[in-house]
Amino acid sequence: QHRATLQRAMRTMRDEARDFRLISSSLAADPKARSRESDEERLAVGAVQAIHDTIYFTIDLLKKSLDLNTCVLLWLDDAGEHLKIKECVTDSDCVVEHAINADAGALGSVVKNRLLVNLKDPKRGHLPYYAAPVDVSFLGVPVLEDGHLRGVLCADRAGDRPFSEREEELLQAASEQMLRGIQSERVFAAVERAKYEHERFFAALARLNRALTAEDVYTTTFEATREMCDFDLAAITLFDKGSKRHTVVSAVGEAPKGLAGLSFGDNAGIASMVVKNKHFLPAGGEIRDKDALVFTKKVRLDGMESLLVLPLICREEAVGSFAVAARRPRAFGKDKREMLTVIATHVAVKLTNAQLYGRMEEMATTDGLTGLVNHRTFQERFGEMLARAERTGGKQALLLTDIDHFKKVNDTYGHPIGDVVLRGVAAVVRDCVRKVDLAARYGGEEFAIVLEGTDLAGARQLAERIRAEVQKQQFQSPKGAFSCTLSLGIAVYPDDGRDGKSIIDHADQSLYSAKHGGRNRAVAWPDLQSGAVKLKAVK
Ligand code: GH3
Ligand code: MG
Ligand code: MG
Repeated sequence: QHRATLQRAMRTMRDEARDFRLISSSLAADPKARSRESDEERLAVGAVQAIHDTIYFTIDLLKKSLDLNTCVLLWLDDAGEHLKIKECVTDSDCVVEHAINADAGALGSVVKNRLLVNLKDPKRGHLPYYAAPVDVSFLGVPVLEDGHLRGVLCADRAGDRPFSEREEELLQAASEQMLRGIQSERVFAAVERAKYEHERFFAALARLNRALTAEDVYTTTFEATREMCDFDLAAITLFDKGSKRHTVVSAVGEAPKGLAGLSFGDNAGIASMVVKNKHFLPAGGEIRDKDALVFTKKVRLDGMESLLVLPLICREEAVGSFAVAARRPRAFGKDKREMLTVIATHVAVKLTNAQLYGRMEEMATTDGLTGLVNHRTFQERFGEMLARAERTGGKQALLLTDIDHFKKVNDTYGHPIGDVVLRGVAAVVRDCVRKVDLAARYGGEEFAIVLEGTDLAGARQLAERIRAEVQKQQFQSPKGAFSCTLSLGIAVYPDDGRDGKSIIDHADQSLYSAKHGGRNRAVAWPDLQSGAVKLKAVK
C-alpha cells in the first residue's frame, strides 16, 4: 500500500512537471526509465515545488487582500477537455477534488471565449469547482500563454459584494504574474538540464581522451554517446586510403547480422558518401528513404527512424565514419548533432593517436632489424611463460643461439651483408616456431627461443631443424655466395633450473660448450651434466 501511495504521488508529480512543460513529452513517452530521464525528473520535481510555492503565495495574497471566499487556479489538460485544481485557498469545505469538465458553467465561457468573466450572481450550480450551490459573486480570468489557454484563475466572495473593474485588473495582473513564474521556472529547469547535460558530456569526453588503444576508443565513444542521447545502434567505420575500403571496426546495440567486421568498397551508401564529402548525412537526422543504403545492400538497418552518420575528420582528412541510429523519430536534432560532432572529432584524433600508439608500442617491443621481439620484451615474456609453467606444472624449453664466426662474415663481406645474414637467420627462426612460442633477438647475433610446453626431446628436434635450415641458406655477396652455421644451447624448465636466471645461465653454458665442441651443433644442459659433452678450455 505504501508503495502504491508513493507511486501515485510520483505519478502526480510527473504529470505536473509535464503540465508545466518542464519535461519534454517525448521523454515521458518512453516507458523505460533511464538514469538520464530520472535525473531530468529530479530537476523537474524541484521546479514543480518552486512553482507551487509561487502560485500559492499569489493566491493566498489575493484571497486576503480581496477578502475572498475562494481563490483557485484551474489548469487545462492537454486535450483541453478538463480543468484540474492546481492550487486553491478557500474558506469553504465543499470545493471538489476531481477534474471538472472544461465547458461547465461560468468556467466554460472563460475557456470558450478566452475572456474575463465577471458575474454578480452566477446561477446555482454555475461554479463547478463547488460540490454544493453557494451564494457568491464570481470573477474568472483566462491564463493565456502565447495565445494558448493554459488555465483559469478564479475568485469569488459573498454575493452582496461584486468585483470592481480595478479588481478585475488586479486578478488579470496576478494571472500574468503566475504565468511568468512558471515560465522562468521552465527556463531555469532548461538551463539546469543543459548545465547537467554538459557536465556529463565533458566527463564523457574526458574519459574518451584517456583511451589509449583503438578498442578503448570504441568503447568510450559509445559510452560518451550514450550520455548524450538514446540510440539503438552505433557503429564506427574506418577508411583505408590504400585499398579504398571501409571496415566496420566496432558496432553496438541492435547491429544487424554481418555488420561487425563488414568490409565494403566506395559505394553509393551513406557511410561512404560521408567519408567522401566530409559532411554528415542525412540532412535532418531522419531516414527519409527507407531503402537508402547506409553501409551495403546486404546489411540493412531495418526499423530505424532516425539516423546520423558523421565523418571522422583528423587533419582535414576523413579517416572513417561514426553512425548512430534510433527507432524513435527525431532522435538526433541539431543540439544532439553538435555534441555528436564534437565526439566524432575526438574519436578521429584518438583513433589516429591509437594507431600511432600501437606503432610506438610495436617499436618499443620489437627489434628493428629482424622484426623479432627485443631483449627487454623477451625478459618480460619469458618470466610470464615460466610463471605459467609453474602454475600448470608444465615445461618450457629455452634455446640460445649464436651465429658461428660472425665477425668473419662482417670482415669479409661488410657490415651491411652481415645484417642481411642476421635477417635471414631471424626468418628461419620465425618460420620454425609456433605462434605460442617466443622468438627474440637476444643480443648482436644471438637469438633466444622459448618453446611453450616443450620437453628436452622436443627442444632437441627443433634445435636440429633450425640448425639444418640455417646451414641450407645461401647468402649473396659481390665476392660470391656463402652460407653460415649456427650453434645452439638448450635448457629446460624446471628440469635444468628452478628459475629464469639459472635456465638462461645453463642454456648459455650449453651454447658455450657447442661452440667449443666444434660449432654448427646443439648442446643441452643434461649432456654437460652426464659428461656426454665436456666443457673444454676456450681455444
Ligand atoms: P663465434 O663463432 O665464437 O660466435 O664467433 P663470432 O665471430 O660470431 O663471435 P661473436 O659471437 O663474439 O661475434 C659477434 C659479432 O657480431 C660482433 C659484431 O661485430 C657482430 N654483430 C653484432 N651485432 C651486429 C649487427 O647488428 N649487424 C652486424 N652486421 N654485425 C653485428
Ligand atoms: Mg655472439
Ligand atoms: Mg657468434
